[in-house]
Amino acid sequence: MDDAQLLRYSRQILLPQIGIEGQERLLNAKVLIIGMGGLGSPVAMYLAAAGVGHLFINDFDVVDLSNLQRQIIHTTEDIGKLKVESARKTLLALNPLIEITPLYQQLDSDALIEKINNVDVVLDCSDNLSTRFAINQAAVCTKTPLVSGAAIRMEGQISVFRSDLPDSPCYRCLYPSEDALTETCSQTGITAPLVGIIGSMQALEAMKLILKIGETLTGQLLLLDALNMEWCSIKLVKNPACPVCKS
Ligand SMILES: [Zn+2]
Repeated sequence: MDDAQLLRYSRQILLPQIGIEGQERLLNAKVLIIGMGGLGSPVAMYLAAAGVGHLFINDFDVVDLSNLQRQIIHTTEDIGKLKVESARKTLLALNPLIEITPLYQQLDSDALIEKINNVDVVLDCSDNLSTRFAINQAAVCTKTPLVSGAAIRMEGQISVFRSDLPDSPCYRCLYPSEDALTETCSQTGITAPLVGIIGSMQALEAMKLILKIGETLTGQLLLLDALNMEWCSIKLVKNPACPVCKS
């Protein structure tokens, strides 16, 4: 690390749990963020600012006026541009010392496995169940830690799935049926700071996984009722009949 990097990351390096060694670990880390929307915005911005060295960002959509209420990585002048390009511009303005690889395509299961196999952590910031299932399947297949977040209306949830550890449940253990939730933000609405809360927590969990510090939300689903600001935690167990992770 040069002097500019030492200064940039100094408040983080000061933490005994991180230090120079931890910062080097972050700088050498590769992370895949799927979705550059409401959750992907704070996830990517915090991981970039914190100095996670290589971010792969995936989205195949363009910025729409209705996105700007909560997708804070994009600005009014980005309307009509690819989200990955708009996001890349913001992230490099925030931290020009890191590498950003935009992936502008809907990743099929083979492509997901290939991309996830190449990173230390994958963050699910998508907005639909079929994508969530596909990301989970690829994370289990490659034994890659998955940080999963979701937000709708004034409710949020977050969990960490560690397919690299034995006996850890996967996302699919939680939703055995294909036809569980089909609601989307465009139909039901969403409050702006909620995605900031959940996304920021996803970024922090990803950093802890890279740094191998503290306790993550592995085997735990944290649910937020933001209207009453009440959190509840549900213990998750591996489903022996899970179609994805049963051995
Ligand atoms: Zn499972």
